[in-house]
Amino acid sequence: MSNDTHIRSGRIAVISGGVGAARMLRGLAAAVDPDRITALVNTGDDTVLHGLSISPDLDTIVYTLADAIDPERGWGLVDETWRAMGALDRYAAIRPPDSQAAPQWFNLGDQDLATHFYRTARLQEGATLTEVTDEIRQAWGVPIRMLPMSDRRRSTIVTVTADPDAGGEPRDVSFQDYFVRLRHGVPVSAVRFDGDAELTPSARASILDAETIVIAPSNPVVSIGPLRSLDGVDEMLTQRRDDVVAVSPIIGGAALKGPADRMLVELGHEASVVGVARLYAEIASVLVIDPVDAHLSEAVEATGMRCVVTPSVMSTPAIARRLAEVTLESVAGPGETVAQ
Ligand code: GDP
Ligand code: CA
Repeated sequence: MSNDTHIRSGRIAVISGGVGAARMLRGLAAAVDPDRITALVNTGDDTVLHGLSISPDLDTIVYTLADAIDPERGWGLVDETWRAMGALDRYAAIRPPDSQAAPQWFNLGDQDLATHFYRTARLQEGATLTEVTDEIRQAWGVPIRMLPMSDRRRSTIVTVTADPDAGGEPRDVSFQDYFVRLRHGVPVSAVRFDGDAELTPSARASILDAETIVIAPSNPVVSIGPLRSLDGVDEMLTQRRDDVVAVSPIIGGAALKGPADRMLVELGHEASVVGVARLYAEIASVLVIDPVDAHLSEAVEATGMRCVVTPSVMSTPAIARRLAEVTLESVAGPGETVAQ
């Protein structure tokens, strides 16, 4: 890192969804000592399939930081094979009509299955998701700390206006039903979070102890939303607002991938950096946006946030690292110490 940057030396908490957060975390881990970083990760997408406990955002972060993510797909492992999924054909063919066994709409790669086997078995032995996540992180040599937002269930439920698999009727479905089975191709009229989850004590401490809090460029509604829905989180962030910086997941009015842009519009928000600023202005003091949106800086600042413009499409590790540095610098005053 260049010597003229001002980055604080304390702990950094990163409120994280999946893909966008994973790229941001890789940049942060290159920019500062990874020991300082804690990812606080969405579990609203978690699901059970084939009896296996699946935590997509946690796994996306582990695989990305371990440099094992499939670069084309953006999820799952590189050089993956799919023989177990294929072998389900035999059982799908004889499954009774009222059975959900052997679902094939959610792809699980052969090597990826090992992660779900391990997580499921450990949870069944009585370990918490926090403990298992730390074990999986260690197994992959991931150098940052990772905490699920909760050890209990908090599921994202999406109301779709028409489910083709339910006669085109409106219906409440799980996030993975919406995202994978329906390929996020149907309009959404509401999103809510079900379950009695609470922020774990370690997750709470990671926010309170952090000198800087980063809201990663993740879907504001279904990735950052579940965390914000937990008791006390918005209040804690509001109190720490001067130390909270968000990176916009919307660039040039669009999501780089996924339904964040459409979903914002369908739920009455604006799919732009200004729409993102309105969602975060109460809890964060700075919004980092890409140069393609520089003309909207004033409108962002009208929401009460400071606006910082820097390249934020993390197509290379170098861009991700630079984005991480600029993000951290944005909450450090000019008088604050320069740390490695
Ligand atoms: P998911 O949980 O895997 O769906 O991923 P996220 O919750 O992290 O959200 C996907 C969001 O990440 C989309 O809105 C993308 O635009 C955003 N995103 C992905 N990669 C990047 C990137 O390189 N830069 C920025 N600024 N946003 C990104
Ligand atoms: Ca996700």
